[in-house]
Amino acid sequence: MNLLITGGAGFIGSHVVRLFVTKYPEYQIYNLDALTYAGNLANLSDIEHAPNYTFIKGDITDAKFLEDMFAEMSFDGVIHLAAESHVDRSITDPMSFVMTNVVGTVNLLNAAKNSWKDSASGFDGKRFYHVSTDEVYGSLHNPEDFFTEETAYDPQSPYSASKAASDHFVRAYGNTYKLPVVLSNCSNNYGPNHFPEKLIPLMIHNIQTNKPLPVYGKGENVRDWLFVVDHARAIDAVFHTGQLGETYNIGGFNEWKNIDLVHLLCQIMDRKLGRPEGTSAQLITYVTDRAGHDLRYAIDAHKIMNELGWQPSLQFEEGLEKTVDWFLSNQEWLDNVTSGNYQSYYQGMYANR
Ligand code: NAD
Repeated sequence: MNLLITGGAGFIGSHVVRLFVTKYPEYQIYNLDALTYAGNLANLSDIEHAPNYTFIKGDITDAKFLEDMFAEMSFDGVIHLAAESHVDRSITDPMSFVMTNVVGTVNLLNAAKNSWKDSASGFDGKRFYHVSTDEVYGSLHNPEDFFTEETAYDPQSPYSASKAASDHFVRAYGNTYKLPVVLSNCSNNYGPNHFPEKLIPLMIHNIQTNKPLPVYGKGENVRDWLFVVDHARAIDAVFHTGQLGETYNIGGFNEWKNIDLVHLLCQIMDRKLGRPEGTSAQLITYVTDRAGHDLRYAIDAHKIMNELGWQPSLQFEEGLEKTVDWFLSNQEWLDNVTSGNYQSYYQGMYANR
């Protein structure tokens, strides 16, 4: 199996690449990544010399590059994670989300379709898997409700609109050209290697450095959190045993209000840093809410649990402890990603709120 994983230098992609490289030594794994601000090959330093792993630097917005690469490499499968992934950045620069998430995905669909249809076996045994987000469903207002695979799309941010559009294109290629596609939509991930513009690593980093902890609005927004390694395990299950043409929702049945999550992190960090209880919580600062901020996301993950036998392996508190421990013992990684451009981004986001 020649397997192309896109976005493998990013947060989730690096965990997927590591799982596949170590679990399937008989596969050749190709990691295609443009190494944007979010891509970091240090995430993969432990497996970079594995004999079944190859890194390819390239941009999915470049259609010609993709067509040439597919013609040369004859991939059997694609797991597509490359994306612009941060909602706040999509509000200030929506077009880069259109280019990578929509145009880039269609470029990849075309390259796979064109190379596979001309191959001796056609689409037989091939698989194009698009990794997507629960944000395409919009916001839940009734506390009893969950997103299921049948929930109508209602994206509210430029990020979720671009992911919704890319999901539609993937399904359209399945329907129109019979491309063998499968999709999943997952809730918020957390864990090692998470870029510190996202809530959990941002809070850990700011507590460590005694900076204010910016909480949007009143911190009432609810998210369902899943440990990133459990998402990678779910991706393995969907890629190998998911039914073609189907979508699987992935989540941890683990809802937290942002403010409660920040308080929990403060308690863990006080304990780890040997500070008196309550010290970190004093850093909490409420800032103007994000425009169009969805109130609640919650995934009904029964389909993947019942049909593919997947379930999360970690309780949230255990996963958070592991995550905090990882950040505290990987200071160099954190220093590298928070130097340079990160500083000007951070100032722009929170300085005047
Ligand atoms: P990330 O931002 O950490 O990583 C994205 C990777 O894609 C980076 O390595 C980046 O260099 C690469 N990339 C960006 N533009 C590219 C381009 N034009 N060509 C090639 N590579 C490019 O993102 P993540 O959090 O790891 O998310 C991965 C995927 O999972 C995304 O598709 C995202 O929508 C989806 N997802 C994320 C979450 C989450 O909580 N983070 C939840 C559900 C789904």
